[in-house]
Amino acid sequence: MHTVLVVEDERKLRELVRGYLERAGFAVLTTGSGAEAIQLGQTVAPSLVVLDLGLPDIPGEEVARELRTTTQVPILMLTAKSADEDRIRGLELGADDYVTKPFVPRELVLRVQAILRRHDPQEAGGVRSFGDGELVIDEDRREVTVRDTTAALTPTEWALLTALAATPGRVYSRAELINRTRGYEYEGYERTVDSHVKNLRRKLEEDPRVPRIVETVLGGGYRLGLPRDRT
Ligand code: CA
Repeated sequence: MHTVLVVEDERKLRELVRGYLERAGFAVLTTGSGAEAIQLGQTVAPSLVVLDLGLPDIPGEEVARELRTTTQVPILMLTAKSADEDRIRGLELGADDYVTKPFVPRELVLRVQAILRRHDPQEAGGVRSFGDGELVIDEDRREVTVRDTTAALTPTEWALLTALAATPGRVYSRAELINRTRGYEYEGYERTVDSHVKNLRRKLEEDPRVPRIVETVLGGGYRLGLPRDRT
């Protein structure tokens, strides 16, 4: 189940959005404070953040920027009318999409679902190849081939690899990787990500001491080091 963090200081709107998202099957956390949103975004690692631009303590852009320093969580921004157009443009660094108030709650739910589908590696499907065929991921057969040899991955290793392969080169924080691999009997502690990565490297890398496929980004997390091949 996906957890959505709703950040909105208007209580009635916040509860309205919560109700619609819950009925659509999401677990929902709410706050009216930007500071608390930053904290929750980092500790709870939600699947998506619905973020009001006009918050009383910290502007929404600031909250988005702050969240982006530690996570790649998708952000759906709530803005008030076209007066905010300039600010919306400024959001390009942060938000994945935005909805202008007043909005139809059902539309917000559809946008949330669309963003999550885009970000879900399981939805990608098919066979993808990386690094001139060095790594091949077959989502339908749940099979990973590295340098023409099938690698036997545990469900958690599979989940980690497909999460990283969703966007090669993009840095995924440990918290986000935990979030994206939930549902695979995951223990959910950041250090367990490191140990799963270590196992994954042993199975995939030519030299696990000099990893080229699952790269470490200092202070950031991990990324897939191979580019996706054009097919
Ligand atoms: Ca507001």
